[in-house]
Amino acid sequence: MMLILEIIGGLMFFGFMGFLSLLLLPGLFGCFGFLLVVVLLGGMIIFFSLNLVWVILFGLVYYIVMAGVKYLRYNKLPTYDNYLTANPNVYQNGQVCCSFCGAEHLSHVGLFGMRSKLRYYVCLRCRNWLYRFKVL
Ligand SMILES: [Zn+2]
Repeated sequence: MMLILEIIGGLMFFGFMGFLSLLLLPGLFGCFGFLLVVVLLGGMIIFFSLNLVWVILFGLVYYIVMAGVKYLRYNKLPTYDNYLTANPNVYQNGQVCCSFCGAEHLSHVGLFGMRSKLRYYVCLRCRNWLYRFKVL
């Protein structure tokens, strides 16, 4: 986020400098100075916009990889039935507990955001992922 702000700030700075040199340079160098400034400015803008594209591309790739890792981790989670058969002592007093620390306070979370149909239960005490389920 800071990088994008820096790029925008840089563009504004160069735009301002370009504007200043437009006022000053034509009197000093005439047409040649004006062309030079335009070429320099254009080069700067292309350079920065290319960088911006790379930043966006990198962000996108990073997001997709993280989503993939999350989905793989989700797929490794047991279903509710598997969780109960693998941990026979987690069902106590009509409640399902955490198999890691025994806490009763569990909460379900969407895999991709709050309204995600792929959901899983996490323990509120030790933050372990417990089992997955799907909302139909
Ligand atoms: Zn726990």
